[in-house]
Amino acid sequence: MERNFTGDLRNLPDGTNVIIMGWAQEIRSLKNLVFVVIRDSTGQVQATFKRENFSNMDQLSTLSRESVIRVEGKLNLQSKSKAGFEVEASSINVINVSESPLPLGIIDPVEADFETRLNNRFLDLRKPVKGSIFRIKSSMLWGIREYLHQQNFIEVQTPKIVAAATEGGADLFPVEYFEKEAYLNQSPQLYKEILIASGIDRVFEVGPAFRAEEHNTVRHLNEFTSVDIEMGFSDHHSAMSMLENAVKKGIENVLKTNSSDLQALGLKIESPKVPFPRISYEECRKIASSNGVEIPFGEDLSVEALKFVGEKFHDFYFIVDWPSSLRPFYTMPKEEDDRYTNSYDLQYREKEITSGAQRVHNPDLLTKRFMEKGLKPENFEFYIKAFRYGMPPHAGWGLGLERLLMILLDLQNIREATLFPRDRTRIVP
Ligand code: ATP
Repeated sequence: MERNFTGDLRNLPDGTNVIIMGWAQEIRSLKNLVFVVIRDSTGQVQATFKRENFSNMDQLSTLSRESVIRVEGKLNLQSKSKAGFEVEASSINVINVSESPLPLGIIDPVEADFETRLNNRFLDLRKPVKGSIFRIKSSMLWGIREYLHQQNFIEVQTPKIVAAATEGGADLFPVEYFEKEAYLNQSPQLYKEILIASGIDRVFEVGPAFRAEEHNTVRHLNEFTSVDIEMGFSDHHSAMSMLENAVKKGIENVLKTNSSDLQALGLKIESPKVPFPRISYEECRKIASSNGVEIPFGEDLSVEALKFVGEKFHDFYFIVDWPSSLRPFYTMPKEEDDRYTNSYDLQYREKEITSGAQRVHNPDLLTKRFMEKGLKPENFEFYIKAFRYGMPPHAGWGLGLERLLMILLDLQNIREATLFPRDRTRIVP
């Protein structure tokens, strides 16, 4: 269908005949005039209908908000309207009438409660600032993908229905798989590592990860987008460098592409400086302790502890050298002291965005690590097998895309960065 986008109108010559298709956001009637604000995915424009040109003005003034319309008319760049341009309409087609009242207002100044918004997500997303979040998400991912391609990674797709847990058994979703027991994948970890053994030694995947998180929090979803990489002949240092640069490139692509979206969200963002600071788990414990928060060795750093660390390091920083007891079986212990590992988390203030590590590549050590973690190596035979016939040293990470968006756009709830969030109580829409 031939159409013009509202976002392009300013750049067309005055007087151009244009066709606008979109939603009737606002309808205002005066004696001899009707103004209709039409919104499309790129912005909005006011169309002016003069009584002298239209026999059906009364019908027009009763048009319901959010109906889908097509308006043809002449572009007026000399308009006195707030935007400075409008369309002098010569015809209108009402393509699909919207029912009223709307379950959720699009331009109401007071925002509806979150549940109502999520229950009517298709309407909630019509609000231009909500659209901005997802345009930014797309650009962020595009920047990361482009960077990884430049670094000779290939994008892969691994199974989401799996037979074994990667991140521990507690938060698995079981699925009925004919006669067998199966689960939704918590992360592509095992398969990305098997691919390193396959000779494709730089892979990345953007896909869903499923975690049966028992409690609703503002940072957790039961289905999130995981951006994962695995690189062969590498250690944790090269994987960290790949990560900070990928995040930087993602943000730079947002800065390049989404200035009006950032403006709509009232945000000023800068490209982060790399390398990000590296700080060890032990240093974090010390910072927490000097602020009166004691973290026993081997315990996770609490949000309270991380707040103190975050205050010191601002924005992005890595926490490195985590204890073995806190990391999954596939994490490489430190050669000099195996109570610690070659692992890291990327943090933004007190929030974790990414976990990564150098992985174990020796099959005997891997089997030992399974036992230490109370797991049965025979359940992972398909995985360990790939380590027995020539497995390079390797490292990688898993980044929560919605977490990254949340911190970058200062969203108070991770659900804002998800089109249709899945949590403990929500499975529709
Ligand atoms: P957390 O401690 O925050 O629950 P985790 O240590 O379980 O996270 P990892 O298994 O290390 O998370 O996963 C890697 C990344 O995936 C995290 O840094 C985070 O960005 C993202 N992530 C993990 N679980 C979730 C979730 N339930 N919802 C959204 N993102 C998640």
